[in-house]
Amino acid sequence: MHLARFPRLHVAHLPTPLERLDRLSAALGGPEIWIKRDDCTGLSTGGNKTRKLEFLMAEALAQGADMVMTQGATQSNHARQTAAFAAKLGLDCHILLEDRTGSNDPNYNANGNVFLDDLHGATREKRGPGLDMNAEMEAVAETFRAKGRKVYIIVGGGSNPTGALGYVDCAFELLAQANARSLRIDHIVTATGSAGTQAGLVVGLKAMHAGIPLLGFGVRAPKARQEENVYALACATAEKIGAAGCVARADVVADTDYVGEGYGIPRADTLEAIRMFAQLEAILLDPVYSGKAAAGLIDYCRKGRFTAGERVVFIHTGGAAGLFGYTAAFA
Ligand SMILES: *Cc1c(COP(=O)(O)O)cnc(C)c1O
Repeated sequence: MHLARFPRLHVAHLPTPLERLDRLSAALGGPEIWIKRDDCTGLSTGGNKTRKLEFLMAEALAQGADMVMTQGATQSNHARQTAAFAAKLGLDCHILLEDRTGSNDPNYNANGNVFLDDLHGATREKRGPGLDMNAEMEAVAETFRAKGRKVYIIVGGGSNPTGALGYVDCAFELLAQANARSLRIDHIVTATGSAGTQAGLVVGLKAMHAGIPLLGFGVRAPKARQEENVYALACATAEKIGAAGCVARADVVADTDYVGEGYGIPRADTLEAIRMFAQLEAILLDPVYSGKAAAGLIDYCRKGRFTAGERVVFIHTGGAAGLFGYTAAFA
């Protein structure tokens, strides 16, 4: 498949580094752990949404948009990267932020990603929990359209077949790096939320016949629902790139045992994982996504589910800006 058929704006710093984590691997005493640094995509502290936005924002420009809208949780990394990308393109950006945690901590509500949304000049409004946020966004978009604005709507997390192309490309990029160094990969793990990252990766890996199992550590939905969401998006993405049918349902595996109380609420093992990465490898994880995925990775190593002699690649999806919304959790 040939991704250059799709409009794309090259903004991300690519390829992101692929690095061996010697001190973490030694501390866990099991497999060799590597990291794919998608926290280093370059745009406003980086993260995984930038790869998706390269395709989504290109589509917005192709459609003649003069503003974009998106939605997410209060400390949404996706909203922040969308605000930053829009600033770079000279587009207005309006964001709907859903209060999923009920936190009244001023840092949670105004620091971290929210501070950066404002700094990039985006406008934003709040919503209570449990609404259909994409429907809310449609309704607000209509009010802008009534005033003559050309609004391009980006679904939550940028997770539609266009956005997922960014992670099809990431799978190509990772395989090319591994092949160039003769680096055999036994497992790839990453956080999975709105599904675009895992869906794009599984399509890219399967379309290339990589033969590497991919595991997504969930952050919100229960296992069956998460896997169904990823599978549905993977099928649509495969079709978009002309590789329909390349992903089987069994290729989509999520483990949601590290979510805890709910979305955006870190557990003790989330905080431990964040501290381990910070103190052993000087790498910043986040309390909502990558910290929970890393907690899963660490637990798999400790339980012997990933073993000595194996090589595991952790795709770091970013999110460190969110740490500044969560300082109280570390007190
Ligand atoms: C959005 C996000 C994820 C999840 O990616 P999806 O494509 O939504 O599944 C993981 N990590 C971070 C830091 C994110 O912001």
